[in-house]
Amino acid sequence: RLTAESLTRSFEGRRVVDDVSFSVPAGQVACLLGPSGCGKSTTLRLIAGVDMQDSGRILVDGKLVCDTTFRVPPERRAIGLMFQDFALFPHLSVAENVAFGLTGGYAANRARVDELLERVRMTAHLGSYPHALSGGEQQRIALARALAPRPRIMLMDEPFSGLDERLRDGIRDETLALMKEEGTAVLLVTHEPEEAMRMADQILLMRDGRIVQQGAPYNLYNAPADREAAAFFSDIN
Ligand code: ATP
Ligand code: MG
Repeated sequence: RLTAESLTRSFEGRRVVDDVSFSVPAGQVACLLGPSGCGKSTTLRLIAGVDMQDSGRILVDGKLVCDTTFRVPPERRAIGLMFQDFALFPHLSVAENVAFGLTGGYAANRARVDELLERVRMTAHLGSYPHALSGGEQQRIALARALAPRPRIMLMDEPFSGLDERLRDGIRDETLALMKEEGTAVLLVTHEPEEAMRMADQILLMRDGRIVQQGAPYNLYNAPADREAAAFFSDIN
């Protein structure tokens, strides 16, 4: 379970993340939805531990990970990251990239790596190197790599947006199903109301650094907090 309590982060006197609180239970998906610049990626960076909040607390499975005086380093938070621009290691094969976070590399973790490569439809590229893969293929390998260590929390910043439509829905649905099976709490950033409606157990609607509404997708759809929230969902049938 991921818990954020009153997270606030300012840059040059402006509150980019402003008193943000939410909680994502194990095995559930929360979609962070909102316009460009509203503070989605900044919120994820605070939780990942690559940036630090000015106030507020972050907990993983009830244990404090970060407040203003105490800070667990990013690599010990049991948090997986999947950002759009996440690079693979160029000197490692696809299999070794996926096995990177696992003790003993590919040799010791064949079953896990093979299963994940199948999920992202990349089994045929097992022995390839990143330079020989397309952008979308590299992204799918980065996804498998993020999933491999079975993180308790997965932070995803538009991880599916670079994939072509033919593959995207299948890979997205299977990836989220896998994380649900493994009890991972997922925080998924998206621009797209349709994607949030379809994937989320909970939607966090963000604007100007604040969460303006949160709840089950049908609640937001049926009872939007205000006109802007309503406009966000108005294109969905
Ligand atoms: P997008 O959908 O376009 O990715 P976002 O919701 O992820 O947008 P953020 O990247 O969180 O938005 O940025 C929120 C605001 O904070 C923006 O106005 C951005 O310019 C500002 N910002 C983010 N990081 C910094 C920084 N290190 N220094 C100054 N301003 C920053
Ligand atoms: Mg962003």
